[in-house]
Amino acid sequence: MTAYAKREPLLVRAGARFDCVGDGLCCSDIHAVGALSDEDCQMLEMISNDAIDRHEGEDAAVLMMRSDTGRCVFWSEQGCAIHTQVGPDLKPTPCIQFPYALTATPLGGRISTQHRCTCRTLGSLPPVRAEEAKACLVDSNGELKPEHAVFDEVSWSQHESLSFTDYAAREAGLIGALLEGSNLMAALDAQPFPTLRGMSWSDVADEMHDFHGPTRAAYAARWFGDAIAFLVDRRERTEHGRPWADSFERAGERVVDPVSPNKVFGDWIADEIWSMRWTRFGSLARARSELATRLAIARRIAGWLDISTLKQDNISAAEAVMIVDVIGTTDPWEKVQEAIPEP
Ligand code: SF4
Repeated sequence: MTAYAKREPLLVRAGARFDCVGDGLCCSDIHAVGALSDEDCQMLEMISNDAIDRHEGEDAAVLMMRSDTGRCVFWSEQGCAIHTQVGPDLKPTPCIQFPYALTATPLGGRISTQHRCTCRTLGSLPPVRAEEAKACLVDSNGELKPEHAVFDEVSWSQHESLSFTDYAAREAGLIGALLEGSNLMAALDAQPFPTLRGMSWSDVADEMHDFHGPTRAAYAARWFGDAIAFLVDRRERTEHGRPWADSFERAGERVVDPVSPNKVFGDWIADEIWSMRWTRFGSLARARSELATRLAIARRIAGWLDISTLKQDNISAAEAVMIVDVIGTTDPWEKVQEAIPEP
Protein backbone atom coordinates (compact mmCIF):
# COMPACT_ATOMS: atom_id res chain seq x y z
CA MET A 1 0.00 0.00 0.00
CA THR A 2 1.34 3.45 -0.86
CA ALA A 3 1.37 5.90 2.05
CA TYR A 4 1.03 9.51 0.99
CA ALA A 5 2.99 12.39 2.44
CA LYS A 6 0.72 14.50 4.65
CA ARG A 7 1.14 18.10 5.77
CA GLU A 8 -0.87 17.66 8.97
CA PRO A 9 -0.97 16.90 11.82
CA LEU A 10 2.04 19.11 12.46
CA LEU A 11 4.83 17.32 14.29
CA VAL A 12 7.44 19.09 16.42
CA ARG A 13 10.75 17.44 17.25
CA ALA A 14 11.20 16.77 20.96
CA GLY A 15 13.46 19.39 22.52
CA ALA A 16 13.30 21.94 19.66
CA ARG A 17 13.31 25.51 20.99
CA PHE A 18 13.00 28.91 19.34
CA ASP A 19 12.00 32.48 20.06
CA CYS A 20 12.65 35.42 17.75
CA VAL A 21 14.27 38.18 19.78
CA GLY A 22 15.26 40.18 16.69
CA ASP A 23 19.03 39.61 16.59
CA GLY A 24 18.78 40.36 12.86
CA LEU A 25 21.05 37.56 11.67
CA CYS A 26 18.40 36.30 9.27
CA CYS A 27 18.41 39.72 7.57
CA SER A 28 22.10 39.37 6.64
CA ASP A 29 23.81 37.38 3.92
CA ILE A 30 23.50 34.09 5.81
CA HIS A 31 21.58 32.88 2.78
CA ALA A 32 20.02 34.44 -0.28
CA VAL A 33 16.65 35.49 1.15
CA GLY A 34 14.38 33.79 -1.35
CA ALA A 35 13.01 32.38 -3.44
CA LEU A 36 10.55 35.27 -3.54
CA SER A 37 7.06 34.45 -4.77
CA ASP A 38 5.37 36.50 -7.52
CA GLU A 39 3.26 38.14 -4.80
CA ASP A 40 6.41 38.99 -2.79
CA CYS A 41 7.93 40.58 -5.91
CA GLN A 42 4.80 42.62 -6.68
CA MET A 43 4.66 43.93 -3.12
CA LEU A 44 8.39 44.71 -3.01
CA GLU A 45 8.25 46.51 -6.38
CA MET A 46 5.57 48.80 -4.95
CA ILE A 47 7.87 49.73 -2.06
CA SER A 48 11.23 50.09 -3.80
CA ASN A 49 12.93 49.83 -7.19
CA ASP A 50 16.02 48.24 -5.60
CA ALA A 51 14.61 45.48 -3.43
CA ILE A 52 14.97 42.46 -5.71
CA ASP A 53 18.08 40.68 -6.91
CA ARG A 54 17.98 38.20 -9.79
CA HIS A 55 21.14 36.11 -9.91
CA GLU A 56 22.45 35.46 -13.39
CA GLY A 57 21.44 32.06 -14.74
CA GLU A 58 18.91 31.43 -11.94
CA ASP A 59 15.14 31.83 -12.15
CA ALA A 60 14.50 32.63 -8.52
CA ALA A 61 14.37 36.23 -7.35
CA VAL A 62 15.92 36.98 -3.94
CA LEU A 63 16.06 40.02 -1.68
CA MET A 64 18.78 42.56 -2.44
CA MET A 65 21.59 42.71 0.13
CA ARG A 66 23.64 45.89 0.59
CA SER A 67 27.22 45.35 -0.54
CA ASP A 68 28.64 47.53 2.28
CA THR A 69 26.83 45.92 5.24
CA GLY A 70 25.92 42.51 3.86
CA ARG A 71 22.43 43.14 5.18
CA CYS A 72 19.03 43.44 3.55
CA VAL A 73 18.22 46.86 2.09
CA PHE A 74 15.26 47.11 4.51
CA TRP A 75 17.30 46.36 7.65
CA SER A 76 18.49 49.00 10.14
CA GLU A 77 19.39 49.03 13.85
CA GLN A 78 15.68 49.76 14.44
CA GLY A 79 14.74 46.49 12.72
CA CYS A 80 12.96 45.68 9.46
CA ALA A 81 11.43 48.73 7.75
CA ILE A 82 8.70 46.61 6.15
CA HIS A 83 7.82 45.08 9.53
CA THR A 84 7.59 48.44 11.31
CA GLN A 85 6.24 50.68 8.54
CA VAL A 86 4.11 48.41 6.33
CA GLY A 87 3.21 45.52 8.64
CA PRO A 88 4.70 42.19 9.76
CA ASP A 89 2.29 40.18 7.59
CA LEU A 90 3.54 41.93 4.45
CA LYS A 91 7.16 40.89 4.84
CA PRO A 92 8.37 38.58 2.04
CA THR A 93 7.39 34.95 2.56
CA PRO A 94 10.95 33.63 3.24
CA CYS A 95 11.34 36.24 6.03
CA ILE A 96 8.09 35.15 7.68
CA GLN A 97 9.01 31.46 7.41
CA PHE A 98 12.58 31.62 8.71
CA PRO A 99 13.84 29.58 10.58
CA TYR A 100 10.97 27.11 10.18
CA ALA A 101 10.78 24.50 7.45
CA LEU A 102 8.20 21.82 6.74
CA THR A 103 8.64 18.26 5.49
CA ALA A 104 5.53 16.28 4.57
CA THR A 105 5.67 12.65 5.71
CA PRO A 106 3.20 9.74 5.90
CA LEU A 107 2.59 10.60 9.60
CA GLY A 108 2.19 14.37 9.16
CA GLY A 109 4.20 17.57 8.58
CA ARG A 110 7.51 17.66 10.40
CA ILE A 111 8.41 21.17 11.52
CA SER A 112 12.16 21.66 11.60
CA THR A 113 14.22 24.73 12.38
CA GLN A 114 17.41 26.03 10.83
CA HIS A 115 20.30 26.67 13.20
CA ARG A 116 21.88 29.65 11.46
CA CYS A 117 20.07 31.86 13.93
CA THR A 118 21.09 33.00 17.43
CA CYS A 119 17.40 32.97 18.39
CA ARG A 120 17.52 29.21 17.84
CA THR A 121 20.87 28.32 19.37
CA LEU A 122 21.57 30.65 22.31
CA GLY A 123 19.96 31.38 25.67
CA SER A 124 16.92 29.93 27.41
CA LEU A 125 14.25 29.49 24.75
CA PRO A 126 10.65 28.24 24.83
CA PRO A 127 9.71 25.03 23.02
CA VAL A 128 8.71 25.31 19.35
CA ARG A 129 4.90 25.44 19.20
CA ALA A 130 3.13 23.93 16.21
CA GLU A 131 0.46 26.65 15.96
CA GLU A 132 3.03 29.46 16.02
CA ALA A 133 5.12 27.71 13.38
CA LYS A 134 2.02 27.06 11.26
CA ALA A 135 1.23 30.78 11.14
CA CYS A 136 4.69 31.28 9.57
CA LEU A 137 4.51 28.32 7.21
CA VAL A 138 1.20 29.00 5.43
CA ASP A 139 1.03 30.88 2.13
CA SER A 140 -1.34 33.75 1.35
CA ASN A 141 -4.15 31.23 0.75
CA GLY A 142 -3.64 29.75 4.22
CA GLU A 143 -2.13 26.55 2.79
CA LEU A 144 0.88 24.80 4.28
CA LYS A 145 3.64 24.53 1.69
CA PRO A 146 6.17 21.78 2.49
CA GLU A 147 9.65 22.32 1.08
CA HIS A 148 10.27 18.61 1.06
CA ALA A 149 8.26 15.36 1.07
CA VAL A 150 9.09 11.83 2.19
CA PHE A 151 7.00 8.77 1.32
CA ASP A 152 6.68 5.34 2.88
CA GLU A 153 10.05 3.85 2.03
CA VAL A 154 13.03 5.31 3.84
CA SER A 155 16.57 4.17 3.15
CA TRP A 156 18.30 3.57 6.49
CA SER A 157 21.37 2.37 4.61
CA GLN A 158 22.23 1.28 1.08
CA HIS A 159 21.13 -2.24 2.02
CA GLU A 160 18.16 -1.58 4.30
CA SER A 161 14.87 0.19 3.58
CA LEU A 162 12.22 0.73 6.25
CA SER A 163 8.57 1.72 6.29
CA PHE A 164 8.19 5.27 7.52
CA THR A 165 6.69 4.09 10.82
CA ASP A 166 9.63 1.75 11.46
CA TYR A 167 12.05 4.46 10.40
CA ALA A 168 10.50 6.98 12.82
CA ALA A 169 10.73 4.50 15.72
CA ARG A 170 14.40 3.80 15.03
CA GLU A 171 15.19 7.46 14.38
CA ALA A 172 13.75 8.37 17.82
CA GLY A 173 16.58 6.40 19.47
CA LEU A 174 19.20 8.16 17.36
CA ILE A 175 17.77 11.62 18.07
CA GLY A 176 17.57 10.81 21.78
CA ALA A 177 21.27 9.86 21.80
CA LEU A 178 22.17 13.08 19.95
CA LEU A 179 20.19 15.24 22.38
CA GLU A 180 21.76 13.48 25.32
CA GLY A 181 25.01 14.71 23.80
CA SER A 182 27.61 12.55 25.52
CA ASN A 183 29.35 11.07 22.46
CA LEU A 184 28.04 12.49 19.20
CA MET A 185 30.41 10.66 16.85
CA ALA A 186 29.46 7.34 18.50
CA ALA A 187 25.76 8.23 18.15
CA LEU A 188 26.28 9.06 14.48
CA ASP A 189 28.30 5.86 14.04
CA ALA A 190 30.11 7.35 11.02
CA GLN A 191 33.57 8.52 10.05
CA PRO A 192 34.11 12.13 8.97
CA PHE A 193 35.79 12.93 5.64
CA PRO A 194 34.85 9.83 3.64
CA THR A 195 36.69 9.40 0.32
CA LEU A 196 34.77 11.50 -2.21
CA ARG A 197 33.87 10.50 -5.75
CA GLY A 198 35.66 12.70 -8.31
CA MET A 199 37.12 15.26 -5.90
CA SER A 200 39.36 15.43 -2.84
CA TRP A 201 38.87 17.20 0.48
CA SER A 202 41.88 19.39 -0.38
CA ASP A 203 39.96 20.52 -3.49
CA VAL A 204 36.94 21.31 -1.33
CA ALA A 205 39.10 23.38 1.05
CA ASP A 206 40.58 25.28 -1.91
CA GLU A 207 37.14 25.99 -3.32
CA MET A 208 36.00 27.40 0.02
CA HIS A 209 39.10 29.59 0.17
CA ASP A 210 38.18 30.95 -3.27
CA PHE A 211 35.24 32.86 -1.78
CA HIS A 212 36.66 36.36 -1.78
CA GLY A 213 35.30 39.63 -0.54
CA PRO A 214 34.07 41.15 2.68
CA THR A 215 30.65 39.48 2.91
CA ARG A 216 29.85 37.43 5.99
CA ALA A 217 29.13 34.40 3.81
CA ALA A 218 32.65 34.67 2.27
CA TYR A 219 34.22 34.85 5.75
CA ALA A 220 32.22 31.79 6.73
CA ALA A 221 33.40 29.88 3.65
CA ARG A 222 37.04 30.67 4.49
CA TRP A 223 36.61 29.48 8.12
CA PHE A 224 35.05 26.32 6.74
CA GLY A 225 37.89 25.86 4.22
CA ASP A 226 40.48 26.47 6.94
CA ALA A 227 38.98 23.78 9.14
CA ILE A 228 38.98 21.22 6.31
CA ALA A 229 42.54 22.14 5.28
CA PHE A 230 43.74 21.83 8.90
CA LEU A 231 41.97 18.53 9.58
CA VAL A 232 42.91 16.90 6.27
CA ASP A 233 46.29 18.45 5.33
CA ARG A 234 47.43 20.13 8.60
CA ARG A 235 47.55 23.42 6.71
CA GLU A 236 47.80 26.71 8.63
CA ARG A 237 44.68 28.69 9.31
CA THR A 238 44.17 31.83 7.16
CA GLU A 239 40.94 33.47 8.40
CA HIS A 240 40.64 35.25 11.73
CA GLY A 241 37.76 37.75 11.34
CA ARG A 242 34.51 36.45 12.84
CA PRO A 243 31.68 36.90 10.33
CA TRP A 244 28.85 37.41 12.81
CA ALA A 245 30.80 38.62 15.86
CA ASP A 246 28.41 41.54 16.51
CA SER A 247 25.31 39.35 16.64
CA PHE A 248 26.96 36.65 18.77
CA GLU A 249 28.36 39.14 21.27
CA ARG A 250 24.90 40.66 21.68
CA ALA A 251 23.13 37.31 21.83
CA GLY A 252 25.79 35.97 24.23
CA GLU A 253 24.55 38.42 26.85
CA ARG A 254 21.34 36.37 27.04
CA VAL A 255 23.25 33.23 28.04
CA VAL A 256 22.91 32.87 31.81
CA ASP A 257 22.81 29.10 32.00
CA PRO A 258 25.38 27.87 29.46
CA VAL A 259 25.12 24.40 27.97
CA SER A 260 27.97 22.22 26.75
CA PRO A 261 29.13 22.45 23.12
CA ASN A 262 27.91 18.88 22.60
CA LYS A 263 24.37 19.96 23.49
CA VAL A 264 24.55 22.72 20.86
CA PHE A 265 25.98 20.39 18.22
CA GLY A 266 23.62 17.52 19.09
CA ASP A 267 20.56 19.78 18.87
CA TRP A 268 21.66 20.98 15.42
CA ILE A 269 22.34 17.47 14.08
CA ALA A 270 19.02 16.23 15.50
CA ASP A 271 17.19 18.88 13.45
CA GLU A 272 19.19 18.04 10.32
CA ILE A 273 18.09 14.41 10.66
CA TRP A 274 14.50 15.29 11.63
CA SER A 275 14.11 17.56 8.55
CA MET A 276 14.87 14.54 6.31
CA ARG A 277 16.27 16.85 3.62
CA TRP A 278 19.13 14.34 3.45
CA THR A 279 16.84 11.90 1.59
CA ARG A 280 17.55 13.97 -1.56
CA PHE A 281 21.08 12.57 -1.59
CA GLY A 282 20.72 8.96 -0.44
CA SER A 283 20.41 6.92 2.73
CA LEU A 284 20.62 7.97 6.36
CA ALA A 285 23.97 6.13 6.58
CA ARG A 286 25.33 8.48 3.89
CA ALA A 287 23.82 11.48 5.68
CA ARG A 288 25.57 10.39 8.89
CA SER A 289 28.94 10.58 7.09
CA GLU A 290 28.12 14.07 5.87
CA LEU A 291 26.98 15.19 9.32
CA ALA A 292 30.03 13.61 11.01
CA THR A 293 32.17 15.66 8.62
CA ARG A 294 30.41 18.93 9.35
CA LEU A 295 30.51 18.12 13.07
CA ALA A 296 34.31 17.67 12.89
CA ILE A 297 34.56 20.99 11.02
CA ALA A 298 32.30 22.75 13.54
CA ARG A 299 34.35 21.44 16.46
CA ARG A 300 37.57 22.66 14.87
CA ILE A 301 36.07 26.13 14.29
CA ALA A 302 34.67 26.29 17.83
CA GLY A 303 38.12 25.38 19.13
CA TRP A 304 39.62 28.33 17.26
CA LEU A 305 37.10 30.68 18.85
CA ASP A 306 37.58 31.75 22.46
CA ILE A 307 37.22 28.76 24.78
CA SER A 308 38.14 30.31 28.10
CA THR A 309 34.85 29.83 29.96
CA LEU A 310 31.84 27.51 29.91
CA LYS A 311 29.70 30.41 28.69
CA GLN A 312 32.13 31.15 25.86
CA ASP A 313 32.25 27.43 24.97
CA ASN A 314 28.47 27.59 24.50
CA ILE A 315 28.66 30.71 22.33
CA SER A 316 31.61 29.40 20.28
CA ALA A 317 29.73 26.18 19.52
CA ALA A 318 26.66 28.16 18.39
CA GLU A 319 28.86 30.40 16.21
CA ALA A 320 30.52 27.34 14.67
CA VAL A 321 27.10 25.78 13.99
CA MET A 322 26.11 29.04 12.30
CA ILE A 323 29.06 28.68 9.90
CA VAL A 324 28.56 25.00 9.07
CA ASP A 325 24.80 25.50 8.68
CA VAL A 326 25.29 28.43 6.27
CA ILE A 327 27.86 26.56 4.19
CA GLY A 328 25.68 23.45 4.27
CA THR A 329 23.15 25.27 2.07
CA THR A 330 25.60 26.41 -0.63
CA ASP A 331 26.02 25.01 -4.15
CA PRO A 332 29.63 23.86 -3.54
CA TRP A 333 28.50 21.85 -0.49
CA GLU A 334 25.66 20.38 -2.53
CA LYS A 335 28.30 19.06 -4.96
CA VAL A 336 30.18 17.56 -1.99
CA GLN A 337 26.97 15.90 -0.81
CA GLU A 338 26.59 14.33 -4.25
CA ALA A 339 30.19 13.10 -4.10
CA ILE A 340 29.84 11.35 -0.72
CA PRO A 341 29.45 7.62 -1.43
CA GLU A 342 27.04 5.27 0.29
CA PRO A 343 29.00 3.55 3.06
S1 SF4 B 1 12.62 42.25 4.45
FE1 SF4 B 1 12.81 42.68 6.62
S2 SF4 B 1 12.72 40.67 7.65
FE2 SF4 B 1 13.17 40.30 5.46
S3 SF4 B 1 15.42 40.17 5.35
FE3 SF4 B 1 14.81 42.33 4.92
S4 SF4 B 1 14.95 43.38 6.92
FE4 SF4 B 1 14.89 41.16 7.32
